[in-house]
Amino acid sequence: MSAQFLDTPISYLKGIGPLKAEVLQKELGIFTFKDLLTYYPFRYIDRTKIQRISEITEDMPFVQLRGQITAMNVLGDKRTKRLIVTFKDDNGTIDLIWFKGQQWMQEKLKTQTEYIVFGRPTLFNRRFNMAHPEIEPLNEQNLAQRSAFQAVYYSTELLKTKGLDSEGLRKLNRNLVTQLNDKKLDENLSEELLSDFKLISKTEALKHIHFPDNALDLQKAKYRLKFEELFYVQLKLLKQNKVREQTVRGFVFNKVGFNFNEFYTKYLPFELTNAQKRVVKEIRVDVGSGKQMSRLLQGDVGSGKTLVAVLSMLLAIDNNFQTCLMAPTEILANQHFATITELLAPLNLKIALLTGSSKPKERRKIHEQLLSGELNILLGTHALIEDVVKFQNLGLVIIDEQHRFGVAQRAKLRDKNVNPPHILIMTATPIPRTLAMTLYGDLDTSIIDEMPPGRKPIKTVHYMESQRLRLIGFMKEQIALGRQIYVVYPLIKESEKLDYQNLQQGYDNLIIDFPIPQYQISVVHGKLSAQQKDFEMQRFVKGETQIMVATTVIEVGVNIPNASVMVIESAERFGLSQLHQLRGRVGRGAEQSYCILMTSYKLGAESKLRMETMVRTNDGFEISEVDLKLRGPGDIDGTMQSGVLDLKIADLARDGQILQLARTAAQSILNEDANLEMEKNKVLLQNLNVQGKARPSWSKIA
Ligand code: ADP
Ligand code: MG
Repeated sequence: MSAQFLDTPISYLKGIGPLKAEVLQKELGIFTFKDLLTYYPFRYIDRTKIQRISEITEDMPFVQLRGQITAMNVLGDKRTKRLIVTFKDDNGTIDLIWFKGQQWMQEKLKTQTEYIVFGRPTLFNRRFNMAHPEIEPLNEQNLAQRSAFQAVYYSTELLKTKGLDSEGLRKLNRNLVTQLNDKKLDENLSEELLSDFKLISKTEALKHIHFPDNALDLQKAKYRLKFEELFYVQLKLLKQNKVREQTVRGFVFNKVGFNFNEFYTKYLPFELTNAQKRVVKEIRVDVGSGKQMSRLLQGDVGSGKTLVAVLSMLLAIDNNFQTCLMAPTEILANQHFATITELLAPLNLKIALLTGSSKPKERRKIHEQLLSGELNILLGTHALIEDVVKFQNLGLVIIDEQHRFGVAQRAKLRDKNVNPPHILIMTATPIPRTLAMTLYGDLDTSIIDEMPPGRKPIKTVHYMESQRLRLIGFMKEQIALGRQIYVVYPLIKESEKLDYQNLQQGYDNLIIDFPIPQYQISVVHGKLSAQQKDFEMQRFVKGETQIMVATTVIEVGVNIPNASVMVIESAERFGLSQLHQLRGRVGRGAEQSYCILMTSYKLGAESKLRMETMVRTNDGFEISEVDLKLRGPGDIDGTMQSGVLDLKIADLARDGQILQLARTAAQSILNEDANLEMEKNKVLLQNLNVQGKARPSWSKIA
């Protein structure tokens, strides 16, 4: 019964004709009763409260006023015509403005009558006004019946022209919810879950999410719906994991052989940190177990992920497999090539580099050596996953700085072998726990939570433009001490041209303060060819230049231990995780390192918080949590394609606790009943497929 009810096309609802139905479909993806019922309010407002005009502040999204009209005037010419209604309460006045329907409003409204006005105040010329508010004659009885939790829905311009503003949508839902009164919807969680987690029924939850009677009802409804949503995401992820374990056979790396031992005992450049040791062990256990490893390695910038990668590669090679490492930029691929060939020089291994700038002849040779099995390690960029690249025996794929790689690219890499190779994804962008659980919920995770010894925490300061002279003096001091300096400019796609101008301008200014030949400056940005970039980089790497002016191309992975100062220009234009990444370019040597955030004077509250967070902490995880709270998951790299944004009610920035409960619940159900075959879990299996329909399958990707 109820499934049928929920699947009823929206055009069958009273008040919706074919026209409105079409707009609802187009604008909000609402096709059925269920779609409308799960189009949740984004806010609730207290319609029992009356504010005073004099108490209105900028941070009030809506206000409700009670008072009388003292004047009505039509102003402006034909184009700018507007009705201005002066509205007054006990201690203040405010302008109500209508740009449309002035005549009708003017005829309807009267002076000497008490009205209730409701709308969104905006500040204009230091006075508040309200455009197109709701206005109705005061009716004490009406007022008493008002909800303290009136739902507010997002609407669109087009919907509004069809009468489907928030109010219109609420009326539709009222209609639907009234029908729920004599229907009980099929429950889509098991009895066990409902009682274990004290969840209210689906029917109750849907009623109360739209029309809560009180705060407690609303809270219970939210909890139930969030739990359900997060539970199914986790159940799906974890079930995929189980299926993969059952069906995909992984290569078994069961021996620690010559290369690993030789390197580990004789050529390790420094003792591994405990965290590195632990992670290498986790990887060893995983690749030796017969399942296919899909592991996410999180470690802050500079925590020493490369060494973990190298040891994992040696493990693959000792078990007669080839291995490859993919980096997001050519600069990084080159750098990995340099580091890894040097590290492994004493061993008799064949290592090659393949990037977009590899010559055809070189390429051909690499392709041959890959197929013949002669090549042990291939390093490179996206070029690695081109179709012509075929391995004889690819056992382990390592992806560095994973979020730069698109979903499809990863899938391609995975398909490079009949049996999927083990996959290790390394990321230096710490991901908030909740996001990791959802984005990579079916991957195993390793964390390097310890920095190599002897690192001094980077000192971060926030300077305004007026402190530039101080900055220049400081830079000169540092250069005199033999240090090198990065100066980074933002590069945002929308204002690309302007950004290059800024960089150029900054460079021109720097030359004045740091004249040749005493000082040498490198410049690297996205408009240079790979060769030019490399040339400039190399000058800096070799210490021939003291300052590197760059856009964010240097953001990821570049490792130049002698560079100990990072100056970030227009720092307010960077996101937190990007700032943290940039800062991670310094602090890699034994010297004290510095990060200087340059901003203009006028900073919004959010920018201020970002600067303060950077100055306060070096902890990438802490920073990522702040970032998530500030921006929401939508803006965090990698979330776009992941389906995280399909969440209708749960909020990964706030609902970490519910997520954890839901994940643990899903895990324990699957541990008992991997295929969800038990009677009590039938309902879960049934709904799993309905719920997760639109979500891409992450486990097929990584
Ligand atoms: P990331 O995790 O950012 O990729 P890297 O692997 O580039 O970090 O390592 C950063 C720096 O730390 C490198 O110069 C590396 O040689 C050094 N390093 C790595 N592991 C250790 C260790 N156990 N002890 C001392 N230095 C280390
Ligand atoms: Mg790295």
